[in-house]
Amino acid sequence: MSKFSKYGIRELSRDFPTNKACLEFVFNAVHDKRCSCGGVFSLRRNKKCFRCGRCKHELSPLKGTIFEKSRTPLILWFHAMLLFSNAKSGISAMEMKRNLSVTRKCAWRILSLLRSSLVQGTKKLSGIVEADQTYLGGRTRGKSMSEAFKAKSLAMAAIERHGEVRVKVIENKGKVSTGRFVTDHVERLGTRFMTDEDPGYIDTDKLYETYMVNHTKKEYVRGDVHVNTVESFWAHVKRCLKGTYKSVSKKHIQSYLNAFAFHYNNAHNDRLRFELLLQLVLLSGAKTRTDS
Ligand SMILES: [Zn+2]
Repeated sequence: MSKFSKYGIRELSRDFPTNKACLEFVFNAVHDKRCSCGGVFSLRRNKKCFRCGRCKHELSPLKGTIFEKSRTPLILWFHAMLLFSNAKSGISAMEMKRNLSVTRKCAWRILSLLRSSLVQGTKKLSGIVEADQTYLGGRTRGKSMSEAFKAKSLAMAAIERHGEVRVKVIENKGKVSTGRFVTDHVERLGTRFMTDEDPGYIDTDKLYETYMVNHTKKEYVRGDVHVNTVESFWAHVKRCLKGTYKSVSKKHIQSYLNAFAFHYNNAHNDRLRFELLLQLVLLSGAKTRTDS
């Protein structure tokens, strides 16, 4: 597979031409085609469930998934996932509404369920890691400076240079929150940890081989010491929040950050990104399926 493998409408229509093909895919992803009695499951005509040809046991592959309670046809969900997966600068509910010809409420629900399925990787970052904090989101129009500031969320990102990003809303500015985020996501041994002169890193510099650039003294690059990668990431996030979403509240900001991390960490292969999204969406229903 080429590094920049494409995946667009043409490929989606070929892989998932009908609602039935989508249902078959979901069934095969979450269940064994062969029943424990030795019979084989097949899709019931005009239904969303599969029945064993021998013991008549029925299974519903959408149970526990984000598709379960939706009246939107599964094929339209697959189109929504493709649009979401390929929208590297994000996609608004209005844009999704126009593309799928559904109501705005339906488009908003699809997008928030897709975002809720995303989880960031747990592998710790290593090598050269850049970290930076920033304030994001919140509606500012018609608000005083202090009100607008209160509506914002403080978020922190760490990026392995030429690698992945981890990004999280943190409760308070200060060395405790900062330190916890760093130790949770950054490998201690062998990592060269790069930041600006923010006092929040005051304890992490005892744990990590830390390099700082002093922005207040207009120092931005010193050899290979800089935080340009993480600052570019924040610049992209801020442009998208303003341009695509207009404003995002504190309640939802983490799910948007998960989506930005998903796109950043899987930027170079459209097909793999779409496949990963499908996998995450189905995995997010796995716990409900096991519980039932
Ligand atoms: Zn059976």
